[in-house]
Amino acid sequence: MSENKHRTVIVGGGMAGLTAAVYLARAGHDVLLLEKNKECGGLLTSFQREGFTFDAGARSILNAGIIHPMLRELGIELDFLESPVSIGIENEIINLSPETALDDYKRLLEKIYPESVNDIDKITSKIDTIVKDMEIMYRIDNPNFREEKDGAYLKELLGWLPKFLLVLRRMGRQNEPVESYLEKLTSNQSLIDIIAQHFFKKTPTSFALGYFYSYTDYIYPRGSTGKLPKAIAEKIIEFGGNIQTETEVIEVNPSEKIVKDKDGNTYSYDTLIWSADLKTLYRILNTKDLEEKVTRKILEQKELLLSRRGCDSVFSLFLGVDMPLETFSSISNGHFFFTPSKQGLGEVHWSELDSLIENFETKSKEEILQWLDKYCQLTTYEISIPALRDPTLAPEGKTGVEISMLFEYDLVKKVEEANWYEEFRSEIETRMLDTLSNSIYPGLKDKVIFQTSATPLSVAKIAGTSEGAIVGWSYLSPVPVVHELRKMPSSVKTPIPSVYQAGQWAYSPAGVPTAILTGWNAAKNAMKTKK
Ligand SMILES: Cc1cc2nc3c(=O)[nH]c(=O)nc-3n(C[C@H](O)[C@H](O)[C@H](O)COP(=O)(O)OP(=O)(O)OC[C@H]3O[C@@H](n4cnc5c(N)ncnc54)[C@H](O)[C@@H]3O)c2cc1C
Repeated sequence: MSENKHRTVIVGGGMAGLTAAVYLARAGHDVLLLEKNKECGGLLTSFQREGFTFDAGARSILNAGIIHPMLRELGIELDFLESPVSIGIENEIINLSPETALDDYKRLLEKIYPESVNDIDKITSKIDTIVKDMEIMYRIDNPNFREEKDGAYLKELLGWLPKFLLVLRRMGRQNEPVESYLEKLTSNQSLIDIIAQHFFKKTPTSFALGYFYSYTDYIYPRGSTGKLPKAIAEKIIEFGGNIQTETEVIEVNPSEKIVKDKDGNTYSYDTLIWSADLKTLYRILNTKDLEEKVTRKILEQKELLLSRRGCDSVFSLFLGVDMPLETFSSISNGHFFFTPSKQGLGEVHWSELDSLIENFETKSKEEILQWLDKYCQLTTYEISIPALRDPTLAPEGKTGVEISMLFEYDLVKKVEEANWYEEFRSEIETRMLDTLSNSIYPGLKDKVIFQTSATPLSVAKIAGTSEGAIVGWSYLSPVPVVHELRKMPSSVKTPIPSVYQAGQWAYSPAGVPTAILTGWNAAKNAMKTKK
């Protein structure tokens, strides 16, 4: 058993852990980041195959007033490319630009649902209000990432603060699930579905409808999304921090202030920042020798967290295609949300799916595949083409295409337990390819050079995330962590002595900006603790 002494140990090298580590290392602290995979990045990662580069996690990155100032402050030079978004429903496709995004979306919906123009007007007016709030929120560099505040910035900040506080209040009042909110504006269920099925089930209204701002705020690092975590990891080393990969933590012992890895090595800490799956933390926590009062609080928190589940997961299909980039650029931008049918998923992804999972043992394979047929024809696809941002990411004359759809972890898990996981995976791939070849990309399936996929179980295994969740907690029941923007700083606290939490499980709604903000907050707390 080796004994290494470090002041702050960070578990998990996703964007949250990397952010915490880089700020601590920059401040001259002893930092050790432990990551179970070969490389850092977690759910923001890329991979290569046969000359193609694919993004396995988030397909683009929201600037959110954070990424640019943070990199400037850290002295990281990374070239970012634009990452414009398109939205398509059946044969109608629009390319979003910041100036006209919402007007174009409104016209698209009016064309598809002419019977609901008045309702569409009400819905897009609401989206407009939320987008304006998002503009205020993200318009200036986030002050957390501008330590040196020059006169011009200070002036801008002072003008912005009162507006920002009003936005915080307004947003706090719009936590109703987007589906039920839309029901108040229209009775056209297809219209509701088409808008809402872009998002996770029961996403809070302000977060979901605010995406129309986010769509115009996406950026893409030249070379792939994986370049961002890689650049931060390099900076951690440059600042004197340590990163140890292929190290899975399997025990946290707060009374002795040590963590233990899979190989039996122990690492001492003064402060621990847990930046990985929260259920895992509470499962592997050794409460031996802690005060009774503390143990009681920890067990209460454990019970709460283990009773909740992770958010929706995804099924992703990665294709190397023998078709030139021009074929794809003539259809959409490189980041494309496409719904092949205006019908909407309806009960297919609510009661029908629930029934399939609850009564799985009584269902035949055929019944499950029939459901899958409908799901693949009606769902919304997120299609990403890295080489449409950076042409070097695919061989000349060819195109790498990433196609993903939200997909239920529990269903795939049941299939795995019934021993037909690989067959199911292949059935899903076939249906996704068929759907897109019969709609937006005629002939696609005949031009595939190779294909590979990631199921919700792959996400769970690779990133160590409960239920394969890609953005933390599910909204289907009350989220068990802080979920109000103004309370975000306290989201990193835990009842465990000297342990902070960060990342997509620490605050909801989550994503890359949340991971960074909570990582930053945890680092600031760790710095104070040390003092
Ligand atoms: C397909 C897809 C699309 C997405 N799209 C968007 C988007 O458009 N916008 C957006 O904001 N977000 C998006 N996200 C979500 C976003 O990528 C994540 O929310 C964010 O990257 C999470 O960062 P994190 O650091 O909190 O967690 P993670 O990235 O999950 O990092 C946790 C790290 O901890 C490691 N780990 C786990 N357990 C242990 C252990 N026991 N010991 C050591 N290490 C451990 C894991 O290997 C991982 O590297 C998307 C994700 C996916 C998969």
